[in-house]
Amino acid sequence: MPGYIVIGGGAIGLNTAYQLARRQSDKVTLLEKGQVGDGSSSRAGGIITGLLWSETGVLARMISLRLYQELSADLEPYGYRFQNVGCLNLFDPASWPEREELLPLYDRLGFAYEILDAAQMRRRWPDLTPEDDLIGLHDALGGYSEPHEFVPALARRCRDLGVEIRENARVSGLHIENGRVSGVQTAIGVLEADVVISTVHAWTAAFMDLCGVRLPIKSFVHQRYVSSELEERLSIPAINANPYGGYIRPARLRTTDFRILAGGETEDREEERVADLGFHMSGLAATRSLRSRLSENLSPLVPKLAATRWETEQVGLISFSLDGEPVLGTLPQLPGLVVGAAFHSGGFAYSPVAGLLLAELAAGDAPSVDVAAFSPARFSPEDTDAYLATTVVQADALRRRH
Ligand SMILES: Cc1cc2nc3c(=O)[nH]c(=O)nc-3n(C[C@H](O)[C@H](O)[C@H](O)COP(=O)(O)OP(=O)(O)OC[C@H]3O[C@@H](n4cnc5c(N)ncnc54)[C@H](O)[C@@H]3O)c2cc1C
Repeated sequence: MPGYIVIGGGAIGLNTAYQLARRQSDKVTLLEKGQVGDGSSSRAGGIITGLLWSETGVLARMISLRLYQELSADLEPYGYRFQNVGCLNLFDPASWPEREELLPLYDRLGFAYEILDAAQMRRRWPDLTPEDDLIGLHDALGGYSEPHEFVPALARRCRDLGVEIRENARVSGLHIENGRVSGVQTAIGVLEADVVISTVHAWTAAFMDLCGVRLPIKSFVHQRYVSSELEERLSIPAINANPYGGYIRPARLRTTDFRILAGGETEDREEERVADLGFHMSGLAATRSLRSRLSENLSPLVPKLAATRWETEQVGLISFSLDGEPVLGTLPQLPGLVVGAAFHSGGFAYSPVAGLLLAELAAGDAPSVDVAAFSPARFSPEDTDAYLATTVVQADALRRRH
């Protein structure tokens, strides 16, 4: 029995393998071209909120938040815990009306939130000093995961559940028989599968192009930093701080230290085209000036940041589809293949529910959320070609955080 092949050992691929292994007796093999965590997942900020901008997104994130709690219990012996410190989304008076329009959606779906003014935020989190006119939209179920804890813990759990994880195993193409994907091509020949699940993130457009499928996905360099040690735990939630040009949260590099993580984009930087399947993110470099810009921009919000220096830098890619929503589902021209990609700057947050939905689709079950809005088949060939023919700078890509 060939079973399932998952391509890509990031948070999405590992969660897919985990969900398949938990629900199926069939063999699950995960193929990673380098080492598990080689892509964006180990470089992420790990922030999660359920307060997104579309019905499908909010419904999916509600499941992700529940699954993060379950993963926290299941992976505790492996050294991972979900940090449920809440997620605060900040808005200035200009950006608030657009978000305010989404409150009826959150109400209808039963997703709880709180609206806080600056004084309330300062009282609740003593290390936070937002400007007087800012509005906070707080998601008490949100928080963050430390990627360097989550990714290896999930990989070990997958192995214990019987998933075969093969590293240094690059997939060079799909194996198609009688019009159906029936395996993958690798350096050691064809590996057969009943269903193949592609979770190769920034490599997706190049990989699918090999199979004659064009997807309107673009990738952008993104970077985040962890500070030197603080003397005590920082009293802030995870914060999507758009008015300050970034995001910031408590962090740790070891189990007993207290630090700050912050990240943001470089507005005038052009998209990064990944044309070669052998591309590796270690070849990316951040714009040098961003380090000091992040400190200057975010210190008024979290004054303790001013007394620290950045100790680590992680540079990776985030991917956006033409309409900014994820690409998750099947393609009519390639039965036997399920694709998960383009999770904007929120792929880490999406990963538990994306893994669940990809596993459900691969197994032929009804997905827990109607994912028609995420279908890879939703883009017309004309729109796709026109989008891929342009070169986009980060400031012009849909800016959707976590
Ligand atoms: C600096 C930064 C900060 C971020 N912060 C956040 C955040 O706070 N919250 C959030 O939700 N998201 C965040 N993100 C986004 C998030 O990291 C990504 O959306 C997510 O990690 C994507 O997961 P993935 O498994 O699809 O991709 P990846 O982790 O990139 O995994 C894809 C894997 O596929 C492998 N692969 C590629 N081609 C092949 C092949 N042909 N054969 C075999 N293997 C192959 C790659 O080596 C890679 O390991 C951030 C990203 C960056 C870069």
